Amino acid sequence: MSQYPKLTIVVPCYNEEAVLHETMKQLSEVLESLIQSKLIAKDSTLLFVDDGSRDKTWQIIESASARHPFVKGIKLSRNAGHQNALLAGLTVASEHSDCVISIDADLQDDIRAIRDFMEKYWQGYDIVYGVRDSRETDTWFKRTSAQGFYWLMGKMGIQLVPNHADFRLMSKRTLEELLKYKEANLFLRGIIPLLGFPSTKVYYDRKERMAGESKYPLKKMLAFALDGITSFSITPVRFVTALGFVTFILSAFVGLYALIEELAGHTVSGWASLIISIWLLGGLELMAVGLIGEYIGKIFKEVKRRPRYTIETNLYKNEKSSFVLS
Ligand code: UDP
Ligand code: MG
Repeated sequence: MSQYPKLTIVVPCYNEEAVLHETMKQLSEVLESLIQSKLIAKDSTLLFVDDGSRDKTWQIIESASARHPFVKGIKLSRNAGHQNALLAGLTVASEHSDCVISIDADLQDDIRAIRDFMEKYWQGYDIVYGVRDSRETDTWFKRTSAQGFYWLMGKMGIQLVPNHADFRLMSKRTLEELLKYKEANLFLRGIIPLLGFPSTKVYYDRKERMAGESKYPLKKMLAFALDGITSFSITPVRFVTALGFVTFILSAFVGLYALIEELAGHTVSGWASLIISIWLLGGLELMAVGLIGEYIGKIFKEVKRRPRYTIETNLYKNEKSSFVLS
């Protein structure tokens, strides 16, 4: 085994022909310089995942792979979406590497941070999050909606690293633990902090997309946010229960008011009984829906079959890291 950690850089690509040549060139240079600095093993690789592109993305990957042994590629049969493409890449990479860095194909993330990632890895960190220093290159809308998203997630008890997308390093053991999460809707940004291994952040400036256009239109962004919330939290269901309870309490006051009006003879006959039953039943029904939601929430958690804990060190096994610090 090599003395140095073998790195795989995983790059999900969807219709990226406009930028892919440049991305490959720049990432190869990074790899080369890291090898020379003895931060990674000589047989480290770049792994491009073609997420069912309809342009020349796969041809570019294939021909680069034929020319350069350190360029690898996998092609998904259809467009499975960014998160799934990334997961496919991570799964394949976990079999061949000591650590993995994921990065988007569009060079928005500063590739110079990759060196900092590796230095943190050598210091013993298992997870290194790339965090954007500023979001100036994003539109006002994207910035504000992102802020709102982190706020909402925080309120629902979901720990996310703010301003961190999918630019990160993970050690082999982190990957192996991550891959034990078998749920169909894997929300990586929420799961990885849950693993609890030693982690740190590296700050960088996020730039404009190098070429091509964003593959995350508003519709996909909203779907992603909703996926994130519903695959982690049953808070929305609790909200319904609370609403039902409030309505139920209010129905007592409405009932009192209706009774007074009725006795004072201000109403047509039947009004009070109608109003009271609407409020009382409305409240009871909402509470009942919420209660059923609680049980569905439990089922939802069970079917995910998430691991309940992650062992970081096991002295029985006396594990050592796969490379030796010199
Ligand atoms: N991507 C993908 N499958 C998709 C959509 C996007 O693999 O269905 C890739 C895309 O090629 C890029 C990364 O995911 O490498 C992030 O997408 P993009 O840059 O368009 O998102 P943005 O930075 O605008 O949020
Ligand atoms: Mg981008």
